[in-house]
Amino acid sequence: MAPPALAKNDPINIVGAGVFGLSTALHLGKRGYTNVTVFDKQPYDSTLYSYFTGCDAASADLNKIIRSAYGSQIEYQELTFEAIEEWKKWNEKLAGGEDLPPGMSSSDRVFHNCGNLSMTDGDVLPPFEIATIKTMEDCGHKDTQLITSDTHHAAIAQKRGQGGCLDPFQRKRRGKSSLGVLDSTGGVAIADKACRLALHKARRHGARFILDPTAGAFVSYLTSNSGKVAGIITKDGKSHPAALTVMACGGWTGSLLPQLDNLCEATAGSVIIYKIPRSSSLWDRTSSANFPTWTYKMRDGAEGGLYGFPRTEDGYFKIGYRGTKYTNPQKQGDGVERSVPITRWTEAEKLKQIPTQAMKVLKGFTEEYLPELRDEGIDIETTRVCWYNDSFDNHLIIDRVPEQDGLFVATAGSGHAFKYLPIMGKWIVDIIEGIGMDRPAVKAWKWRVLGEQTPINVLMEGSSGVRALQNTRLTTDADMKLRSRARL
Ligand SMILES: Cc1cc2nc3c(=O)[nH]c(=O)nc-3n(C[C@H](O)[C@H](O)[C@H](O)COP(=O)(O)OP(=O)(O)OC[C@H]3O[C@@H](n4cnc5c(N)ncnc54)[C@H](O)[C@@H]3O)c2cc1C
Repeated sequence: MAPPALAKNDPINIVGAGVFGLSTALHLGKRGYTNVTVFDKQPYDSTLYSYFTGCDAASADLNKIIRSAYGSQIEYQELTFEAIEEWKKWNEKLAGGEDLPPGMSSSDRVFHNCGNLSMTDGDVLPPFEIATIKTMEDCGHKDTQLITSDTHHAAIAQKRGQGGCLDPFQRKRRGKSSLGVLDSTGGVAIADKACRLALHKARRHGARFILDPTAGAFVSYLTSNSGKVAGIITKDGKSHPAALTVMACGGWTGSLLPQLDNLCEATAGSVIIYKIPRSSSLWDRTSSANFPTWTYKMRDGAEGGLYGFPRTEDGYFKIGYRGTKYTNPQKQGDGVERSVPITRWTEAEKLKQIPTQAMKVLKGFTEEYLPELRDEGIDIETTRVCWYNDSFDNHLIIDRVPEQDGLFVATAGSGHAFKYLPIMGKWIVDIIEGIGMDRPAVKAWKWRVLGEQTPINVLMEGSSGVRALQNTRLTTDADMKLRSRARL
């Protein structure tokens, strides 16, 4: 039986003010819902979604990759095109000084169209890139994917102001392999500012935000006599009744909604950040005017899975490793081990570190691809483990929770959902309202079980698994050579 339609003034709770929660709140407001409250345990009004003020969510970051290259997955390709249009509009509105969030100015941008370069160390393009090129051409997006070895494509990149982005590591000049594909539609999202902007827009559309470690922290569901989820209870003991509760807690969602067992799991990525001084030869070279976001051997297992960004305005140059997806299984109240994000700032020293395997691959890459860092004595400034919520098939999960009236889930970004921030909520509100349920993306996001298919991500291996952080050697201070440990 279809759930009863919501009235526009029905109370709706959203738990989580990351990309999924923010975008849902924004689009519920745009669709005319007048009684939306977003809860988060992190005080984002003061921490501003910044790494450096203790924020600990996937969405709270310096920057994220935007790419529409998705192999043969047309649904995500087209979703990204839709999102990029909106990213551009957000930029235009910022530039026009229209309705600026506190602390942001008309010179801020939330998206730079510097392209996303997918690199390989081989001399043929991987199947994923070949599939992307074909799918793009089939969908009328010819000449968006520029092959680094193609002179016609080099001319196109030049014309679009993306010339330097075809070989940002100057591999050709060094006589090294430089094969790759530049997705010229993509680039970099300035993540913290984009979240601040989305929060501001959602408020403008009427959403209330309770962003507080006590008053905003979900602790349990409020259930009616019939077993329906009738709202939530927060850490301060207050009840918040609602006709619908949307759980959008990123890596924490699985531990708050056990029905998600074997459907998604929190996994850690490993990040290193250099700080490039203004005096460096790399300052101009790595700015988003000359340098793309990039990925390297993204589908090649533990020895690959690297990605990176142009430097930020402040010179932060970030590189991430996803070749091994680490977990943090912890036994929960019901005896089941579930992976939960570690809040490194509140824990022991070891949590300021990343696994040695990750460091080995990251360092190996920078030595080979950007030796200037070593030559100029620019060392790693800081590291971070950063928590994804991965589904077994890398598709998002956006659906009502089966056999649980009043409860909806929007999660499992699986490493690729940030780019949808401006539009994700439109799709989520459609699903809440039962609109367009036959669309391929909507079908892919439905509640599901693994069944016979081979998972892309093997979930819930528990504390005996090799990817469990408990079984992983972490870097020592000497390995990391952290120069300014006091920063975090
Ligand atoms: C390291 C890393 C790199 C990534 N790179 C990219 C990229 O380049 N491009 C891209 O498109 N995507 C990328 N992603 C994916 C993207 O960042 C995520 O899909 C997206 O940010 C997830 O948003 P979310 O709202 O689901 O979760 P989150 O951003 O984690 O937000 C969840 C929120 O829930 C809150 N919460 C949790 N528990 C509670 C509770 N009990 N009570 C109240 N609030 C609670 C948390 O405080 C948090 O604010 C990356 C992810 C990671 C981790």
